[in-house]
Amino acid sequence: METKDVILELRNQKGLSQEELAAKVFVTRQAVSRWETGETVPNTDTLKLLSKLFDVSINTLLGSPRELVCKCCGMPLEDCNMSRETDGDFNEEYCKWCYADGEYTLDIWKRYAEIGGKEKLEEFKEQLIREFNTILQIEGLPKVENLNVLSGEFINMEFTLPNGEKVKFLDDRQTYLGSQLESEFGGRCIGIAANMDFLLICSYEENGKDPELMIYKKR
Ligand SMILES: [Zn+2]
Repeated sequence: METKDVILELRNQKGLSQEELAAKVFVTRQAVSRWETGETVPNTDTLKLLSKLFDVSINTLLGSPRELVCKCCGMPLEDCNMSRETDGDFNEEYCKWCYADGEYTLDIWKRYAEIGGKEKLEEFKEQLIREFNTILQIEGLPKVENLNVLSGEFINMEFTLPNGEKVKFLDDRQTYLGSQLESEFGGRCIGIAANMDFLLICSYEENGKDPELMIYKKR
């Protein structure tokens, strides 16, 4: 849908005339009319006001030109799962589980916020990617391009040691940087996860079955 149709539809849903909408966002009725004929699109400040008024993201107002994903966990973002600032404005960078009330919710982000913020986290991510790609030299491991923040709960696999003992290495309540890759030899998946203290690499079948630990080492 184009911006003009989005605005028209939202205005009708709210039961506002062009005149009434114009007054609410401090423009003339003619301006609203021009948006709805597609002659112009609202400027950035007006988009913010419209976003608040209609309770939709700016991306939605613009007809969803961008495929938004959460910068933290990689989840595709729609208005219903998008995070918000404390004043209720949408934050179009994160999902509502990773960022809420003006703050990161996951411990790994919080820890980095304390020691230098988002930039530090990006640096740490880059460093881990380098470690996975160069230091480790795992056979069949494709190039690691990106890492997502993952909840321990979802990736904490149980491995069976040669003596039959079953062990888990992660903590369900913590978050890790990691990813799932396809083995270059085909067939199995390779899971990688890390935090500030250690790296873990394992392989498993597509559905997570038959996990096998490849590397678990202190960093
Ligand atoms: Zn997220």
